[in-house]
Amino acid sequence: MQLEELYEMGLKFHGHKCPAMPLGIRAGLAAMKVLGVERAKDKELMVISETGKGHAAGCFLDGIMVATGCTYGKSNIVNGQLK
Ligand SMILES: [Zn+2]
Repeated sequence: MQLEELYEMGLKFHGHKCPAMPLGIRAGLAAMKVLGVERAKDKELMVISETGKGHAAGCFLDGIMVATGCTYGKSNIVNGQLK
C-alpha cells in the first residue's frame, strides 16, 4: 500500500489532521521494513507500543494501526508506558 493511500486511510480513521498520526504511519512502516514483514491482514503481527495515553500518543497509535494493520479490535496491539 502506498504512503498516500495509508495517509488517506489514516485521515478517515483518525478523523482530523494532525502531525502525530502521519508520524505513526511512518514509524509503523519503518518498523515493518526493519523487521522484513508486511502489513497484517489478520493477526500475523503484534505491536507493543510504549507511547502512553496522552493526546498525541493516541494520534501516533492510530497511525501505527493504519500502517501495520494491528488494531485494538484484533487484539494485536498493546500500549504501555515506560517507567
Ligand atoms: Zn490527531
